[in-house]
Amino acid sequence: MWKSDRPRNEADQIPSYEPGSPEREALAAAVEELKRAPASLPLMIDGREVWTDDVVEIRAPHDRRLLLGQACLAGAAELEAAVASALEAHRTWSRLPWPQRAAVFQRAADLLSGPRRMAHLAAIMLNQSKTPYEAEIDLAELVDFWRYNVWFLNAIYGEQPEQGYREINRFDWRPLEGFVLAISPFNFYSIGGNLPTAPVLCGNVALWKPARSALLCNHEIQKLLVEAGLPAGVLNFVPFASRSGGAVLSHPDLAGLHFTGSYETFVELQRQIGMNMAHYRSFPRVVGETGGKDFLFVHASADAVAVGANIVRGAFEYQGQKCSAVSRVYMAESLWPQVRDYLLREVADLPVGPTENLTNFMGAVIDEEAFDRIGLWLDRIRDHPESYELLVGGGRDASEGWFIEPTVVVARDPKDRIMREEIFGPLVAVYLYPDEAFEKTLHLCDASTEFALTGALFARDREAIAAAEEILRHSAGNFYINDKPTGAVVGRQPFGGSRHSGTNDKAGYRANLLRWLSPRLIKENT
Ligand code: GLU
Repeated sequence: MWKSDRPRNEADQIPSYEPGSPEREALAAAVEELKRAPASLPLMIDGREVWTDDVVEIRAPHDRRLLLGQACLAGAAELEAAVASALEAHRTWSRLPWPQRAAVFQRAADLLSGPRRMAHLAAIMLNQSKTPYEAEIDLAELVDFWRYNVWFLNAIYGEQPEQGYREINRFDWRPLEGFVLAISPFNFYSIGGNLPTAPVLCGNVALWKPARSALLCNHEIQKLLVEAGLPAGVLNFVPFASRSGGAVLSHPDLAGLHFTGSYETFVELQRQIGMNMAHYRSFPRVVGETGGKDFLFVHASADAVAVGANIVRGAFEYQGQKCSAVSRVYMAESLWPQVRDYLLREVADLPVGPTENLTNFMGAVIDEEAFDRIGLWLDRIRDHPESYELLVGGGRDASEGWFIEPTVVVARDPKDRIMREEIFGPLVAVYLYPDEAFEKTLHLCDASTEFALTGALFARDREAIAAAEEILRHSAGNFYINDKPTGAVVGRQPFGGSRHSGTNDKAGYRANLLRWLSPRLIKENT
């Protein structure tokens, strides 16, 4: 029924928020509404709100005085109840005719792109410190995940093996047996919404542990799914401290882990799963996306203005806190004077401040830990002029929120730590290479880090494009030519990296859904 009717990407329909527009006024009103009364956020287990004494405060990263709410954390008892309710719900949810499951997510997508839009945008803006534009593309991505996943799954269910002489073969596209644990990051509300629901759409049940620093907006998703008709127990909202998670990870019915977060955490989770392997009923499916040290590589034939504009957007949108953000640039020397002028002009003037002020380009970084971590890099740049030339930025200010200036630095040594390690903030390092050393520098780019999430090449010379594609073959799971390496659109740029960046099971694509299905092949002789 959906086969030819491919969904339209919500991101293509984002309103402009021009001053004086009705959208802008509605958004400002939703933000004020949220600021008026701090929320109390319970867990959701078996369709019931559950309150605990272990609570965390939620504050806006750009305004430390602004208390947005308090959220409960789950302990061992709540997690045990969540697993039990999920397993109970599996009995009915996994056997429902699949269009009934699809209907829940279609409805959720419609609610999110309609009546719930402004409340969710406001929660994203305040909780994650996203500008309206960044909040919009985040929300749009979740609508797209839900609509496209329905569309992809419909096609998967239609796939059947070949028939033979006097035999009938078919796939029974079963969900996994057991429950899936979804652990989501702070930086994309859409990833939060997708990690538990991609398996759930396929007939699985899940426990969802969203990042502590994005609980308000992720709780909004949970509420919306209930409103859209998700039955009790199918998805249990249980943020928990890592010390409480052991029993979930070692539970014999753990059927899968759907993760986005740091490399270190993913390694630790896999280590724990590995230690428990003999106790599971099935081998858990492990799907994860982790860090990046994403590059933008500039050939001498590139368009300097396009390069400058894409460094600014790729490195500084959402304060550089996208896993896909530009963090290192390899720049052909001959093009640098033009790009340098562009960056000096544009970056110094980028408006940074509270995201409720709808004209700011950047908000604050997520929390004190991020502020301090990025601050150490800024100190290092200041203290080592022999290694770095600070082009623009370098400042920080925590008096009201966790603000870091957009910063561009030239690194003299391409093997410096700043060209190899993930920073996850609005800081980009540029290495200038002699034009004739293009291929040599491509090899250097490939060998500099263990990460391989995203990367971009700017060039007009076809031979240069071909050489880069070949030499950087394993350097990025998403490789962009003459575009920034951020902003993958569901269905068009399926997203994921390899090496230390993840299992590359491509979010926003059928490949991801296949990980949550365990097909039974049935042959009948006739
Ligand atoms: N999919 C996002 C992008 O293309 C990045 C996701 C992430 O930060 O994990 O920018």
